[in-house]
Amino acid sequence: MPRQAYVNGRYLPHGQAAVHIEDRGFQFADGVYEVVPVHRGALIDEEPHLDRLERSLGELRIAMPMRRRALQLVARELIRRNDLRDGFIYMQITRGVAPRDHRFPAQASPTLVMTTRRTKPHREALLRDGVAVITVPDIRWRRCDIKSVALLPNVLVKQAAVEAGAYEAWQVDDEGRVTEGSSTNAWIVTGDGTAVTRDASQAILNGITRLSLLNVIRAEGYDFAERPFTVAEAKAAREAFLTSSTSFVMPVTRIDGAAVADGRPGPLTKALRQHYLDYMAGQGAADRQVGG
Ligand code: PMP
Repeated sequence: MPRQAYVNGRYLPHGQAAVHIEDRGFQFADGVYEVVPVHRGALIDEEPHLDRLERSLGELRIAMPMRRRALQLVARELIRRNDLRDGFIYMQITRGVAPRDHRFPAQASPTLVMTTRRTKPHREALLRDGVAVITVPDIRWRRCDIKSVALLPNVLVKQAAVEAGAYEAWQVDDEGRVTEGSSTNAWIVTGDGTAVTRDASQAILNGITRLSLLNVIRAEGYDFAERPFTVAEAKAAREAFLTSSTSFVMPVTRIDGAAVADGRPGPLTKALRQHYLDYMAGQGAADRQVGG
């Protein structure tokens, strides 16, 4: 079966799926999105992802295009039609189609698009050696907690990372403190073994992987702190890593070209990655049991 996408009530071949040129997502980036991981055919952390989607929509006063339960059925149907086992489902909702005008349209119904993407297992080398990050100024707006499709600053810093031979760019606020990556949350492990990640505020997107990993850390009894850390502190850290729905827990072993500690993925990072993979496997099993 060819790859299929969902657009406003219809399942279409991916190559023919399209929205109108006056969609406000296209014209103003007036919309939000979610990326929900799929592991062995099951959605991971579906409810928290949908909670965040509804929150982002609420902050922008965009209506849910359908009830949550209906959205969940569409997601499952798209996974089935694409025979997706490992990858993610992408959901985008915009304020809809209207003649171009900055103010909210009096009448527009939200646009809903869903696509799926297969992913390959992470390359062994990334996990064995860890990845490099560069640090860059955070030039974004002050509502980074909203998962908006307005991602131009994120695009630019990711490109800078790629051109520097790095995996990710860690954005830094005016006080020299790391906010987050272009599409990942940033973590360090301090000298006393505490896992540190920035507290959730309007300065970062509160990653669902971040939240789930915090739950795993609590359950396993590791020490953690939610607070900002500086670039200097990160460079002097015992370990560093990043989290996201597609990177899971990824060791960071170089910051701005300098090795973190001995330049090898740290033991806590490796343990947390394994705990997170176990957590995902458990979620998949539970989802299948309820006939997800
Ligand atoms: N920060 C930003 C800016 C992101 O785009 C993402 C990925 N959506 C994350 C953090 C990680 O969030 P999650 O764990 O929900 O994928």
